[in-house]
Amino acid sequence: MKDSDLNSLANKIQSWAQDLGFQKIGISEIDLSKEEAPLRAWLAKRYCGSMEWLNENIEKRLHPNLLLPGTLRVISARMNYLPPDTQEIKILKSSEKAYLSRYALGRDYHKLMRKRLAKLANQIETWLSENNLPVDVQQRAFVDSAPVLERPLAERAGLGWTGKHTLILDDQDGSWFFLGEIFTNIPLPLTNRAKENRCGDCEACLKVCPTDAFPRPYELDARRCISYLTIEHKGPIPEEFREVMGNRVFGCDDCQLICPWNKYAKPTDEKDFHPRHGLENSELLTLFNWDESTFLEKTAGSPLRRIGYERWQRNLAIGLGNAETDENIVRALEDTRKNASALLREHIDWALSQQRKTDRRRKRKILNPNKEKKTEK
Ligand code: SF4
Repeated sequence: MKDSDLNSLANKIQSWAQDLGFQKIGISEIDLSKEEAPLRAWLAKRYCGSMEWLNENIEKRLHPNLLLPGTLRVISARMNYLPPDTQEIKILKSSEKAYLSRYALGRDYHKLMRKRLAKLANQIETWLSENNLPVDVQQRAFVDSAPVLERPLAERAGLGWTGKHTLILDDQDGSWFFLGEIFTNIPLPLTNRAKENRCGDCEACLKVCPTDAFPRPYELDARRCISYLTIEHKGPIPEEFREVMGNRVFGCDDCQLICPWNKYAKPTDEKDFHPRHGLENSELLTLFNWDESTFLEKTAGSPLRRIGYERWQRNLAIGLGNAETDENIVRALEDTRKNASALLREHIDWALSQQRKTDRRRKRKILNPNKEKKTEK
């Protein structure tokens, strides 16, 4: 294909992506050799915890053309997810409320994004055939569905830089976005605008982390991360983290909430990502009192469904243990304990012992943007 055709196609892809609701896309090459040493070192330190799948398919992660033979370029796409008018700090400070990660308040993003990326891939193929450009096209869309190093690819595609909290962020749009990719064998022109890292001397995200999950900048020990503990981790949550988890019962956004660049983040227009069932402002006790069929009904099509009812109650029990002492909470914990699994019973016992403490010196690290912002550059 001629360079002029490839340039026209790249311009078309930009405009189709906007129409499909992606805020930004970029095109990168597939050389990820610089990622190999840090990835292997991170895995060797066991920072992945029980996410053993990260130890598998390492070669495919590092070489996109092993995942989809013939791949020459990766189109990375960004979609904002921050719902409008959700009062994160207020919820984090209300010990009776449940804080759920902002990405999990609405519908699951995987299907929506994958469908849109597949449509984009179709538009590319249609354009080629309409323009009589016979190419044996090989393309595939991914959204967390395969061993893909999405953040390094997004960085190379100019979608942002990797912050000290290890997420991708952008000086015009912050970091509240999902990432997805299309692998393609079309030699599209590369997006030539890698973002300069603008973290500077700021360490706000490292300092605010309730569980000190960052051993150093740009490195996350997932085993200490509340998102890992409440979502990925299947067993008991280690006691050392329970008090500082506060009311964060599904994921944690503290490192994003504190980031100064997120003042530029724009709320999403995607109705699917807007909160459902009042989850942005729910009482811990209300959620804990859901029976299993209510849990299944209210979490249909939601990322919350993934952890299942037992872990849902496990996490909420910790939140209730951290709430102000309340006889309704104690009663609900005692009632649920009667038929609880061993895992849940142990967390309920911990919560009951916390509720019964008269002198409850809280270790909770409540996000205080004003205080933290003094530490920024
Ligand atoms: S909080 Fe500061 S250090 Fe962390 S990602 Fe944002 S700018 Fe970078």
